[in-house]
Amino acid sequence: MPAFFDTSIEFLKGVGPQKAALIGKEMGLFTYGDLIQHYPFRYEDRTQFHTIESVHADMPFVQIKGRITKMETVGEGRKKRLVARFEDDTQAMELVWFKGIQWVVKKLKLGVDYVAFGKPAVFGRKVNIAHPEIEILTTQNNKAGFLQPVYHTSEKMKAKFIDSKAISKMIRQVIVQAEGHIYETLPENLLQQFSLIEKKYALWHIHFPSNQELLQKAQFRLKFEEFFFIQLKLLKMKVTRIDKFKGQVFNDSSLLTEFYNQHLPFDLTNAQKRVIREIYQDMKSGKQMNRLLQGDVGSGKTIVAFICMLLVVSSGAQASMMAPTEILADQHYEGLKEYADLLGIKIAKLTGSSKTAERRVIHEALEDGSLQILVGTHALIEDKVQFKNLGLAIIDEQHRFGVAQRAKLWKKNATQFPHILVMTATPIPRTLAMTVYGDLDVSIIDELPAGRKPIQTIHEYDGKRLSVFGFMKKEIAKGRQIYVVYPLIEESEKLELKDLMDGYESIARAFPDNHISIVHGKMKPQDKDFEMQRFVKHETQIMVATTVIEVGVNVPNASVMVIENAERFGLAQLHQLRGRVGRGADQSYCVLMTDYKLSKEARIRIDTMVKTNNGFEIADVDLRLRGPGDITGTQQSGVLDLLIADISKDTKLLQAARNAASDILEADPELSADQNRNILRHINSLKKTAVNWGRIS
Ligand code: ADP
Ligand code: MG
Repeated sequence: MPAFFDTSIEFLKGVGPQKAALIGKEMGLFTYGDLIQHYPFRYEDRTQFHTIESVHADMPFVQIKGRITKMETVGEGRKKRLVARFEDDTQAMELVWFKGIQWVVKKLKLGVDYVAFGKPAVFGRKVNIAHPEIEILTTQNNKAGFLQPVYHTSEKMKAKFIDSKAISKMIRQVIVQAEGHIYETLPENLLQQFSLIEKKYALWHIHFPSNQELLQKAQFRLKFEEFFFIQLKLLKMKVTRIDKFKGQVFNDSSLLTEFYNQHLPFDLTNAQKRVIREIYQDMKSGKQMNRLLQGDVGSGKTIVAFICMLLVVSSGAQASMMAPTEILADQHYEGLKEYADLLGIKIAKLTGSSKTAERRVIHEALEDGSLQILVGTHALIEDKVQFKNLGLAIIDEQHRFGVAQRAKLWKKNATQFPHILVMTATPIPRTLAMTVYGDLDVSIIDELPAGRKPIQTIHEYDGKRLSVFGFMKKEIAKGRQIYVVYPLIEESEKLELKDLMDGYESIARAFPDNHISIVHGKMKPQDKDFEMQRFVKHETQIMVATTVIEVGVNVPNASVMVIENAERFGLAQLHQLRGRVGRGADQSYCVLMTDYKLSKEARIRIDTMVKTNNGFEIADVDLRLRGPGDITGTQQSGVLDLLIADISKDTKLLQAARNAASDILEADPELSADQNRNILRHINSLKKTAVNWGRIS
């Protein structure tokens, strides 16, 4: 006998094996448990009946009682429609159908009392309702006073008459039978503290709310619960990891001291120092480190990474740094090699384009331990790559890597997990970080190196191009360099290249005295590199490029970033691009060029960029505009598959749930106290069905 909620939905009245299979295939709903958690995505207001006299076109959906007194088909061909005169004691109005006319004609009867529900609209000065829902008036639906749940279905399901109403009926059956099977999952004291309604009532009112207030209570309770258990899981994972997984102890600071005293190219910011201390503390502690390092573009994460590697290398272990793109891996390699050479540390680069012979040498040197630092792309998590003793694995620009890839790094050291440092330049809103990286410790570099002037961002319409050119000329005259970036258009590489080439030509015409570089994704790596190097060496003054320069490139003398068709870029990307300038001591500028016509969202993006340089603020707006999955690229991580809560909107609730979970774990880490028995029972029941209570990195 399966537990009640594991019962297959085929046993519900009116379902059966065929429909059950269809619902499973279309919606992923197989059991009573699945069904009861298939929450409505909206509700229709059936809390009151309106008189026909009072109905007007500005109203949202309305519910009216009346009788059909006349029905006729009018018009021909595509204009053919069925018009019914619908009357109550106050007035008459028209109900109209354009489709399924025959079926409706058969179904509707004159002189019978009906309930009609739909959106009023104006048609030829009169108010009517097109394609209303219409049912014979019964004692059931004559009760005004409930919100009608609306459920997601699919076209294939509707073709088999499994519409929202049918799903609602199925859920009602389950809930009625579920009496006695729905356990409370939260402890009494939490229910009281947060005024949460009990689980069984919450489930009832989420599906069948009789008014807004109860619906809100149900939503609040279920959202809280959803956040609470995710946070409890993440926090518990963290506690377990800290308790169980020993980390290698690294406490030999000799290389650090040498680097600090002899080679450090600039003073570290206080934020950099603080973060290095936090990381050192972790790596000395004997516990395995799992830390997220957030720092805005240009905040100087690379040198922090290098200094952390030194602690590991001093002790004879190895370190790796993984970047999302080849260009970025190249740049990290170049940057780190400069430092490493000063100290006589062996460093190599491994990417997709490394030759077989090179790879062989690298593999061997990794295995015998003579290679101390490896920089690369995904290529370095391939199975063939084995380290003698990987002590620290660093991942840059984490948002481009999935959880699975993080997990692979865990296994790169045969005997002990390496310490993990995840670096991200796109600040992640706190709520999102709490959810996606809720099991990591977080360090933040919240300070830019001294002497940087905030970048000025300006929005210009395409018509102002000549004056923008004039501005560029002035900056070049001051000895500065300029990026001009064109969007990458995925649907049409040809078009993209044409935009870029047209732009290049018009710039070449407007700047006859200057040298201009051009870089795009279709070029051979060595050509790209050649052009980049020309720009780095200041042989060219203008770099015309697609977004290939988005991440990482570092030319401190470049002080102007012109972004063409800026309305086509997302916020995170605009912020990244802007981060390419403002790296030197000069005043830098970012010019966002757009069309005159801007969508509402594009306008918000542009305004946000003009208003602030703060990556966290930008990330918050981005989260609101795009939703969480798109931002992190971590939909697959599972923690974002929320049934009801929304991390971009329910921010306070998330924080409250996390605090509650943290307090409970602190007082009772094993959840063995009597007052936490509801929690433990729920977790155990989840463990049986779901695999995701296990460890993710
Ligand atoms: P990001 O955090 O975006 O990866 P980088 O590590 O590329 O930033 O650093 C950006 C630039 O700032 C580099 O040229 C780097 O050498 C320089 N930099 C880093 N830290 C400092 C500092 N404390 N003082 C001055 N310049 C610094
Ligand atoms: Mg960087």
